[in-house]
Amino acid sequence: MKRMETTCGYCGCGCGIYVNMADDGTMLGITPSYNHVVSKGKLCSKGWHGFAFVRDSRRLSNPLIKQKDGTFRETSWDEALEFAANGLKSAMTDGDNTDVIGVVSSARCTNEENFLMAKLARAGLKTSSVDHCARL
Ligand code: SF4
Repeated sequence: MKRMETTCGYCGCGCGIYVNMADDGTMLGITPSYNHVVSKGKLCSKGWHGFAFVRDSRRLSNPLIKQKDGTFRETSWDEALEFAANGLKSAMTDGDNTDVIGVVSSARCTNEENFLMAKLARAGLKTSSVDHCARL
């Protein structure tokens, strides 16, 4: 069995965890990091047990681009990122983009990742329309 130390991604607390894996990389479970400065060996139920989504058959494994008829076409990461960048460029106007671009971040991100998302929105995309799913 292999163990990889990482951060629980379920909320912004950032508890320290080990992902336990079989030799072929299959995820077996989670154990807490007993020396972690935030969690000190404790996890909530999501941290302990909320990893089944990793192998869920409904999980997207490739980028998709929505077609004009509403269906989705599988594509490469390069094409998907270029498509998104072109869409943002064409939506952006000079000055305040608050009316045309909004950003929704995630409670599954760390505080630092959410800070970076807010910076990207405000400084890069010039919009103050930033929200977070924890508010829903
Ligand atoms: S273990 Fe629970 S409290 Fe800790 S980061 Fe994960 S979801 Fe948040």
